[in-house]
Amino acid sequence: MKNIIIFGAPGSGKGTYSDEIVARYNMGHISTGDVLRGEIKQGTQLGKIAKGYIDNGQLIPDELMIDILANTYDSMPEGKGVIFDGFPRTIPQAEALKQMLAQRGHDMGVMIELIVDEDTLMTRLLNRAKEQGRADDNEETIKKRFAVYHNQTAPLAEWFQTEGMRHTFTWEGSKELMLENIFKFLDTLK
Ligand code: ATP
Ligand code: MG
Repeated sequence: MKNIIIFGAPGSGKGTYSDEIVARYNMGHISTGDVLRGEIKQGTQLGKIAKGYIDNGQLIPDELMIDILANTYDSMPEGKGVIFDGFPRTIPQAEALKQMLAQRGHDMGVMIELIVDEDTLMTRLLNRAKEQGRADDNEETIKKRFAVYHNQTAPLAEWFQTEGMRHTFTWEGSKELMLENIFKFLDTLK
């Protein structure tokens, strides 16, 4: 499978659909949120820096994030497509990803955009807070993350459009229906 960038607001289901896609097409998976939470758990220097931003609903600075992404990518087994979950989140990150992959002779592949209304997102994130207890899943921080998404990340959709990579899937109330539509599209690629 080609590389896939999965794109959408906090709580839009990036991680959930990534797991399903990874299982079906036997791909690698990079979730930058999971990478950062792993660093925090291990108490590394990077984790300490990241925690300050994450707990505040802010993005980690681009330069740092781009380095983390490149290191993570280079540690993946070669020859499989990778699903990028949570990266890029800014235009400089997208430009850096394009360049990093080109330097390695790889292609960016396709972008899958998940559109979900904000009330549904908020309900999901507050439910997740009860189940997983993520420090940034509280109403105040979620609102900040939505604002960051609108201001810094959502404009990237146009960037992908220009690259001819953008494929949009809109929530219609069922995870099964979303997956059916996403798989139908991905099955045409290979
Ligand atoms: P969800 O996992 O439900 O889609 P989310 O997109 O807010 O929600 P993560 O992708 O796990 O959650 O990211 C959590 C936090 O990690 C972000 O709010 C941000 O602080 C930091 N982060 C993750 N990826 C990046 C990135 N590419 N650039 C900058 N910061 C990032
Ligand atoms: Mg996630």
